Amino acid sequence: MTLPLYVQGAWFLGAALFIFGLKGMSSPASARKGIVIAGYGMLIAIAGTFLVPGLQNLGLMALALIVGGAAAWISGKKVQMTDMPQMVAIYNGMGGGAAAAIAAIEFAKGDAHSTVTTVLAVIGALIGAVSFTGSCVAWAKLQGVLKKAHRLPAQNAVNVVLAGISIALGLAMIAMAPAQPMLILGFFVIALLLGLIVTLPIGGADMPVVISLFNAFTGLAVGFEGYVLGNPALIIAGIVVGAAGTLLTQLMAKAMNRPISNILFTPMVASGGGEAISGTMKELSALDAAAMMRYASKVIIVPGYGMAVAHAQHKVWEMTEILEEAGVEVKFAIHPVAGRMPGHMNVLLAEAGVPYDKILDLEEINGEFGQTDVALIIGANDVVNPSARTDKSSPIYGMPILDADKAQNVIVIKRGKGTGYSGVENALFYTDNCRMLYGDAQPMAGEIIQHLKSMS
Ligand code: NDP
Repeated sequence: MTLPLYVQGAWFLGAALFIFGLKGMSSPASARKGIVIAGYGMLIAIAGTFLVPGLQNLGLMALALIVGGAAAWISGKKVQMTDMPQMVAIYNGMGGGAAAAIAAIEFAKGDAHSTVTTVLAVIGALIGAVSFTGSCVAWAKLQGVLKKAHRLPAQNAVNVVLAGISIALGLAMIAMAPAQPMLILGFFVIALLLGLIVTLPIGGADMPVVISLFNAFTGLAVGFEGYVLGNPALIIAGIVVGAAGTLLTQLMAKAMNRPISNILFTPMVASGGGEAISGTMKELSALDAAAMMRYASKVIIVPGYGMAVAHAQHKVWEMTEILEEAGVEVKFAIHPVAGRMPGHMNVLLAEAGVPYDKILDLEEINGEFGQTDVALIIGANDVVNPSARTDKSSPIYGMPILDADKAQNVIVIKRGKGTGYSGVENALFYTDNCRMLYGDAQPMAGEIIQHLKSMS
């Protein structure tokens, strides 16, 4: 059926807006605008879908939109920045599930499709189903519902067998198209199980990378199902998500120095590991920290996950402004995997009003630590752990880190002796040039501000 021009036009416009929106998201300055543009794209694409002639079940479609839209609106309003990864996981899972459901309905209808269409529907269904259950497990882990990594005795062999069976059933569906209901059911059960079994053993620290990978999968699945339905907006949206997700997965895996295969099949040891560390952690007061920074010429601030949980970014920026007024040069060093999602720190600092030219990436800033008087680490741990450079037995060995240890003085704000997300001890905290300022990042930044004010 050839669709009317206004439907095709709406889908084309929607797809174009997705691409412009994604372009906007490539910089923190335009990210907010980008997401709004992509939102309008989605609205136009959905409106176009309602205009397809001869459409049935309009009432059900509207109901699904109202229920889904309301749930997304409420959860989107309520979600904390630190809970964003699990929200992305669950939405992503819904996308994969929707793609698999589209394929399931197409198979169940038993309409004659070309072989190419059936092949794409099967691939999309497989990827979408794996992404659905995998993303649900990822959500459960990040939300703390599933606390342990569950690893089967012969995990990788089970993965291979399940993948083999689902591919074989998929091939049978292509060969026997239209397939029998039991065959379709068996295919989906195994594909859903595969997503579950592959994801269950993966540790929490690797989970954001896995979510990004499933995001890429969902994009591909949606793209394939878009072809099956003859819907260009779905094809373009799927390809854009698939490509962006793949690039993001690669970037994150590179930043953690962990090949994707390693993340999926040999999960990181969640705690311990690494050489024993000698020395003691030495404390300092907020007053001393304030004085050290007030009389420094250059300070680099390294924010991490702890700053995000403490919502300390506004106080950190207030502190920076006071230091700058006193003539201190202050910069922010951002590790690509600081926090719990890519760009986490950039988003928080941008929200607090930190100008973008003060926020530098790892490659840009690492050479500057050597000429820095004070490196102030706020709620960061793994991203400044020098064992990643030196200790081959450490689980994070090889991960590029911010060279904060090379600064003349290092001040670390954290609540206690807790390890980072990887569970690895941090040798930096025991070095001679490092002092610990124990406390929640927000009140501690507040105390430093009070002392700085009294010094001016
Ligand atoms: P870490 O998780 O390594 O460390 C955070 C530190 O913050 C902890 O040691 C904790 O110590 C401290 N902390 C927690 N709450 C507070 C608080 N309220 N006030 C002050 N301090 C607090 O964070 P990093 O940002 O350094 O590293 C991110 C980790 O997440 C890396 O291991 C990275 O690989 C991983 N990861 C990140 C991804 C991303 O996309 N960003 C993706 C995948 C993994 P204490 O309990 O003593 O206070």
